[in-house]
Amino acid sequence: MTFNAIVVEQSGEDSVSASVQALTEDQLPEGNVTVRVDYSTVNYKDGLCMRPKNGLVRQYPHVPGVDFAGTVQTSSDSRYKPGDQVVLTGWRVGEIHWGGLSQKARVNADWLVPLPDGLSTKQAMAVGTAGIAAMLAVNALEDHGMNPNQGPVLVTGAAGGVGSIATTILGHLGYEVAAVTGRPETADYLRSLGAKRIVERNELDHVTKRPLESESWAGCVDAVGGEMLARILGQLKYGASVAAVGLAGGAKLPASVIPFLLRGVNLLGIDSVMQPFDARMRAWQRIAKDLPMDKVETTIRLATLADVPQLGEDILDGQVKGRVVVDVN
Ligand code: NDP
Repeated sequence: MTFNAIVVEQSGEDSVSASVQALTEDQLPEGNVTVRVDYSTVNYKDGLCMRPKNGLVRQYPHVPGVDFAGTVQTSSDSRYKPGDQVVLTGWRVGEIHWGGLSQKARVNADWLVPLPDGLSTKQAMAVGTAGIAAMLAVNALEDHGMNPNQGPVLVTGAAGGVGSIATTILGHLGYEVAAVTGRPETADYLRSLGAKRIVERNELDHVTKRPLESESWAGCVDAVGGEMLARILGQLKYGASVAAVGLAGGAKLPASVIPFLLRGVNLLGIDSVMQPFDARMRAWQRIAKDLPMDKVETTIRLATLADVPQLGEDILDGQVKGRVVVDVN
């Protein structure tokens, strides 16, 4: 019996190709749980994993897909039995381990979480890695004192996956969300998710000579990094925090230490990949409770495995709006 998966192969010294191929179960890597995947997604990292010399994939052929949700087919781990519904994000699945853009996946039970009550496998993937990272960012900001009474909160890369879910969560929790986007045509979409204000990307995507500007933001979920993150540090209110989630605008941080020293601001690093089980469960349970799924469902673009190679290019070009959910079947 074969099943379909996206397989990335090296097609030359500096080139790779991604296509849908039929695989057999004996080709799956080692692991103690085999999952029949319902849905996966296309994240920024999946786009990278389908490009050559990406620094993430170590061996070819490779099956990408940094997250998936599905049903346990076989398990030799006592925590999971056939028929259990499960979700996976992180643990470098889809990078150094074969991932979820496949009808079957074999993984280590430690990397799974049970599907939270109240969520379907499709909804879990509408959230996916990007949504978990957004939730972890909001948790970190609130753990550092952010609350809805302190004024506007910024979300950068707002029309992307992390940004769309962060905007939806924060809007639902009563925050006044200012959404930064380079795509003005997404303004109505961002307002429908919960943004109160739209900030044009070009207002923030370059540093100035002034390390401090007026105190504007009570917090920030940043998916962009680079000069934008550096600029935002100088615009945070006294004692406020920015959660650094992504680098869609660059990995360098040409910042001044002055905002840390004179305004006591905080730069909080967010990693969704190696989060321990309890932190992932906390995030998923809060998502099941605090994320309005009807809004999240408006961010979904449903795709098939055959669409994935092109979508990988699109997401790296910043052309994907919201979340791409891949129905692998
Ligand atoms: P998307 O491509 O969906 O979103 C990124 C958004 O950033 C784009 O939609 C665009 O938003 C904006 N953007 C793109 N290029 C630039 C640029 N040059 N300058 C400024 N803004 C830009 O990706 P995701 O939301 O899935 O991921 C966002 C980032 O978060 C990535 O770097 C990803 O690797 C990272 N990430 C990190 C995780 C973690 O655990 N820390 C987990 C998941 C993702 P707009 O059009 O609105 O301007």
